[in-house]
Amino acid sequence: MRVFFIGFGQAGGKIVDMFLAQDKKLGSTSFRGVVINTARTDLMGVKHIPMEDRLLIGQTMVKGHGVGTDNVTGAKVAADEIDTIINAIDKRGTHDVDAFVVCAGLGGGTGSGGAPVLCRHLKRIYREPVYALGIIPAPEEGRLYSLNAARSLSTLVNEADNVIVFDNSAWKNDGESVKSAFDRLNEEIVRRFGVLFRAGEVNKYGVGEMVVDSSEIINTLRGGGISSVGYAISEALPKGGRPASKSGGGLLGGLLGKKEKKQEPHIDITSSEDKSAKIIGLVRRAMLGRLTLPCDYSTAERALVLVAGPPTELDRKGVEKSKSWVEENIAGVEVRGGDYPVDSGYVAAVVLLATIGNAPRIRELMELAKEAKEEVVRSRERATSSMFEDGIDPLFE
Ligand code: GDP
Repeated sequence: MRVFFIGFGQAGGKIVDMFLAQDKKLGSTSFRGVVINTARTDLMGVKHIPMEDRLLIGQTMVKGHGVGTDNVTGAKVAADEIDTIINAIDKRGTHDVDAFVVCAGLGGGTGSGGAPVLCRHLKRIYREPVYALGIIPAPEEGRLYSLNAARSLSTLVNEADNVIVFDNSAWKNDGESVKSAFDRLNEEIVRRFGVLFRAGEVNKYGVGEMVVDSSEIINTLRGGGISSVGYAISEALPKGGRPASKSGGGLLGGLLGKKEKKQEPHIDITSSEDKSAKIIGLVRRAMLGRLTLPCDYSTAERALVLVAGPPTELDRKGVEKSKSWVEENIAGVEVRGGDYPVDSGYVAAVVLLATIGNAPRIRELMELAKEAKEEVVRSRERATSSMFEDGIDPLFE
């Protein structure tokens, strides 16, 4: 799938920078992108995006210093300069893209306010789907961040064709601060979506036996709302050989990532039944393990199952059985799937759970936001009522 990424704000910019770095490393041209910010220093921080694809907006209003955590100003700046933004996107080339993906941290100001505005305009202008990859803040980041994210997310679900959510709090380790975890979290994001969005791409292994092309990803996401992604990997062991990872990992070794210590030991593959069992096990782990947004997977309307790995480990029956298993476990009946041959020492399963009906973290975010909003009103009342008497009219309204 050819994806045009737009990184809005600091988090969005860093993540798009990493997607493009991954693409460059793999010698691929599936991804392209631009980054947008109101803060000059944040734009300077990206490494893999040419200067002409970094756009500073809001200069007359905030003079390159950013909008802080004020997402209303973030939205206003984006709306005021939407023509400049669209021109920058057009200049980068949009004629052959399959989808737009707007990445942003929803708890701040620039990305939180700008992403929904941009999605609205992209949808009006282009025929291709417009997805948002939205990061929600951990509660410990403060209630203002939750309030910003709640407002941004509520707007985004109406403006984007689907919002795929990544929850910072679900991914940071106990005792670790969210900030110190950012780099690791971003790697997790880019690994999952890197595999998912590359499905169907032709490489030297050709295409899979059961290709997942971009229309299948698009059809899976077409119900809108919010979605979550699961991922699991296992070491590959070619028939009669030693684990491929020990022999270097291959071209896409870096794409699928390293095996977690906790994961199951690899299974020696001798027959199609074994391959199939391994794939089913991986898909189960992907769906039942840590999702980008923890949620009740049984409320998903649609799903997509993708198995990526060396051709010797891919198995049609395994993918078919995995799809049936996923179908039995979600609310809807539409489960798409396929395989994606890559040169890697690992086999990976990605499960996209689309249009989720119940995610407790979203409910919690909305509650925190409501409390924060009430507190803002109370403190404003306290501040004015303590000094100024009612009944004295201001000079003008
Ligand atoms: P903006 O520049 O005003 O859009 O705001 P930021 O992107 O700096 O921050 C918005 C939210 O994104 C914060 O609430 C953080 O939770 C989150 N965030 C910031 N940087 C990162 C990052 O590198 N990775 C992740 N996963 N989240 C981030």
